[in-house]
Amino acid sequence: MPQLGHRFRSFRFAFGLAPTSFAACLETGGSVLEHALANEATLCGIPRRQVTVYRHLFVAKRSGRCSDCRVRAVDASSRP
Ligand SMILES: [Zn+2]
Repeated sequence: MPQLGHRFRSFRFAFGLAPTSFAACLETGGSVLEHALANEATLCGIPRRQVTVYRHLFVAKRSGRCSDCRVRAVDASSRP
């Protein structure tokens, strides 16, 4: 039942139980929200030069995370 498996994976990512495939970062001098970094910008569109990149992966916990990045990271990471 592949669809059920996919749903379960999405659920785990959405609740921050599994790290996504994106690096975590913080907007330099900005808010304390964590963003998910793709190549040249965060998933919500902040350029890489404006963020401080962490060494850990972005985890989509419900608090302290940019909601845009959370939705997009979960979506991308839970895709089969
Ligand atoms: Zn963001």
